[in-house]
Order: sequence, then C-alpha cells, then structure tokens
Amino acid sequence: MDYVLETNGLCKYYRRFKALDGLTMQVPKGAIYGFVGRNGAGKTTLIRLVCGLQQPTGGEFFLYGTRHTDRKIAKARRHIGAVVESPAYYGDMNAVENMKMQYATLGLPSYDGIDALLKLVHLHDTGKKRVKDYSLGMRQRLGIALALCGDPDLLILDEPINGLDPQGIIEMRELILSLNREKNITFLISSHILEELAKLVTHYGFIDSGKLIQQISAEELDARCRKYLHVKVTNTAILAQVMDKLGTEYEILSETEAYLYRIFQISELSAALSAKGCDLLSVTEREESLENYFLDLVGNAGGETA
Ligand code: ATP
Repeated sequence: MDYVLETNGLCKYYRRFKALDGLTMQVPKGAIYGFVGRNGAGKTTLIRLVCGLQQPTGGEFFLYGTRHTDRKIAKARRHIGAVVESPAYYGDMNAVENMKMQYATLGLPSYDGIDALLKLVHLHDTGKKRVKDYSLGMRQRLGIALALCGDPDLLILDEPINGLDPQGIIEMRELILSLNREKNITFLISSHILEELAKLVTHYGFIDSGKLIQQISAEELDARCRKYLHVKVTNTAILAQVMDKLGTEYEILSETEAYLYRIFQISELSAALSAKGCDLLSVTEREESLENYFLDLVGNAGGETA
C-alpha cells in the first residue's frame, strides 16, 4: 500500500515529559485518517513535527517516502497543506487579499486559481468583508482555502470542527468529502469529536499518552461497533449448535445468556431454537457506541474524556 505519511517509533520529549512516546502509524494515500485522542494525547505534537514546526527527539517519519532527516523533506512538505490550531490569516484583509498574500509567500507565479479556490470553500462572494468580521465557520473555510494554495495532496487539519455550529459542521464535512473524492486529497484530521468523525473517515488512529494504541479501518470499526442481540434462552449449548449451523457469530455469557452478532427476526430465531428444544426467553438489541469503544480502548482512568 502507498502511504503518504509513515511514522516509526516517533518521540517528542519536552524535558522529561513524553508528548510522543514511540508513535508508529501509517496514513494511506487517498484516506481520510481520523487521528483521535483525548486532550493532551499528542495529536498536535505529531502535526507540528510533520509540518516541520518542531523536530523529533527520536524515531523517524517519512513523508511520501522521504525520511524527515533527508534534505529533500522540504520538497516533500510542498505536497502538504495544514491548518494547525487556528488558521493563519490577516484579520484586516478580505479573503482575496489573504489568498494573494499566501500565493506570494509560496512564490506562486500568478494569482490564477484564487477565485476557484474561494468558490470551492463558498467564500467567493464575500466582497470587501474583512476576515476578522467572519464567522468561525467562514474563517475555518478560509484556512482550508489558504492551505490549498500550492495544490497539496495531503491536507492536515487540527480539530477542524471545534467550536463550529451545526451548519458549520455540515459545511466542513461536505467540503472535506468533496476535496477527498473529487481532488483525491488525503486528509489527516485530528479530533476528539468521535460521532462527527465517524461520518467522514476511512481510517482511525487512536492515540493515548503519545502512543498509537490502535489503527483500524472505518469498515472494521463499524463491524466492531455493530448492532447485536443479547438473548436469554433455556440452554445456550443448544443455542451454540444452532448458531454454528447458521454460521452466525456469538458469545456465550452463561448457561442461559449469550450475545448474537446478527439481527434476527424474533420469530425466525425462536422457531430455529425451539425446533432443537431450546426456548427463547428474551431478546434485547444493543449497539456498541464509538465513544464506548474508544473509552474501553484507552481506559477510563485518568485523562480527560475524548
Ligand atoms: P488537544 O486536543 O488538547 O490539543 P493534543 O492531543 O493535541 O491535545 P498536544 O498539544 O500534542 O496534545 O500536547 C501533548 C502533551 O504535550 C500535552 O500534555 C502538552 O501539555 C504537552 N506539550 C505540548 N507542547 C509543549 C511544550 N512546548 N512544552 C511542554 N509541554 C508541551
């Protein structure tokens, strides 16, 4: 698989405090990678290292296959755009003026493309309005337009939906999805708003105390957080035989209780069991929430909530 970013045992220490403690992760090309962790887990630290704002204490990372110590890393960084913490803009300027400043900073030869970029983020008709008078959602979208100057194919967004109202969240989600699908831009998005991320991401990296504790595709995570049935029966040994025959996954909890990882019609389940001499006493549908999954993973002790 092609990775745009790979880290290997990456460490960042502030004196003896380990903000990143041997972090190993891979961001596949074309992914929307959700980088999830509680406050202080190390998400922004990783982003700062990748963007070259700070240097690692140990370990390594590769951007488009270029090691962070390689002289060509500056060239590899030209393929990335980032909005770290809050977007960097000039509040007294309007959107077009901000974009021109960014073009000039990047040394781009002409201002062609500015209109198209502002259209993309729905800021093309903001006229002379100064950015300091924008809503938070507008400023975040301008941040993305600024990050898109130079035509990057990896966009790194640090908490892009923090503080946005519901409409702003929907606009941000749609923008990210369209950039990913239509322009094939890979995203690395740090967030602790799990239910919102779940509507977007193709991959998750769960981080805690500077370590990656799990990397999993959205597909696999959906399967783990799927709906299941908690059943009470007269005999789970018979239930197990019936489930084996039906090819259904299950977990026996006791002689009378089990989880079934398939949503049956109650009448169908009851008939299949009673044909073998087992009665169905009760059925409850359950669903593991993403939030609970994450909390189980990192443990509830210490730390702030995700
Ligand atoms: P948040 O969601 O709150 O932004 P985060 O996962 O992005 O959290 P980081 O900003 O990466 O967390 O910080 C990780 C840890 O490193 C925190 O405990 C933070 O206090 C610490 N830290 C970050 N920068 C410094 C610094 N310059 N000096 C000392 N400690 C730092």
